[in-house]
Amino acid sequence: MEKGLVIKSTGSWYSVKLNNGKIVPCRIKGKFRLKGIETTNPVTVGDFVSIEIQEDKQGMIVDIDTRKNYIIRKSVNLSKKAHIIASNIDLAFLVVTVNYPKTYLNFIDRFLVTAEAYHIPTTLVFNKIDLLKEKELEELDFLIETYSKIGYSCIKTSVEKNINIEEVKREMKGKTSVFSGNSGVGKSSLINLIDNSLGIKTSDISDSHNQGKHTTTFAEMHELKFGGHIIDTPGIKGIGIIDIEQEVIHHYFPEMRNLMNDCKFNNCVHVKEPKCAIKKAVEEDEIAEFRYQNYLNLYYGDENPGFRESLYAPK
Ligand code: GDP
Ligand code: ZN
Repeated sequence: MEKGLVIKSTGSWYSVKLNNGKIVPCRIKGKFRLKGIETTNPVTVGDFVSIEIQEDKQGMIVDIDTRKNYIIRKSVNLSKKAHIIASNIDLAFLVVTVNYPKTYLNFIDRFLVTAEAYHIPTTLVFNKIDLLKEKELEELDFLIETYSKIGYSCIKTSVEKNINIEEVKREMKGKTSVFSGNSGVGKSSLINLIDNSLGIKTSDISDSHNQGKHTTTFAEMHELKFGGHIIDTPGIKGIGIIDIEQEVIHHYFPEMRNLMNDCKFNNCVHVKEPKCAIKKAVEEDEIAEFRYQNYLNLYYGDENPGFRESLYAPK
């Protein structure tokens, strides 16, 4: 029996990379199930598996290691079944631009909430800093200060002027990462500059053309020259935006999660309750006003339905 990593899947065949770098085409033996949900694909890109090599040099996947996380999407056609897009993701990079094009803060916070729900750490990459004027640079500093304080790693980059690209590489090294962000922010250019041998076409998450179309596409893992992997999700809009129950949204705002035990009521959702530690922190500028507003937007469901992907959080 050998251990390996699933780097590609076509539905019935899986490419498994062994520790010695050899890639073995594999099939599945037996049934694998996730607790609580039915899935259309038992094994996904990112899975660590045990395989038995057969006489014909092909492999049989006989076991899957417990996944540390996974991203899934509901299947439209087969009700209740879910498609696991990828697993064991160490890091998500959200590429944003203060301007050219403007990335809305609501969009950033929705993404971060989703990543929190999936237990995927996120690094914010603020790209195109070469284009920013004085006012925009001030906004950039404010955002970096705000998000760093919450605990998110922030990198300001210019792909055009090759600024801080090494820092992005340093974070990627040895890890499995995914890249997301609106169209036009520079994802493809950035990935190309990081490793020009990958030939990855990134997909945009704000683009709502493919809503509900659900063509069968599979994620693929690419090895980075300098160590680590990047997961490409063609036809799937990054890690997407998920439906989260109203009462637990605040768990996915780390700065609220840290303070919520100080609220008077232990079921406080920080909206209308008295003696709320979160509202106090907002008043005292400890929690950024815009983050709280984005929390309220999510809480009240006042949102752009075009943003919704049919994804949901694993329990
Ligand atoms: P994607 O849609 O996120 O993959 O974005 P692209 O990589 O296609 O980039 C969109 C446009 O922005 C292209 O014309 C890039 O050359 C340009 N671009 C990317 N990064 C930068 C940057 O840091 N500065 C400037 N000035 N332009 C950039
Ligand atoms: Zn509260």
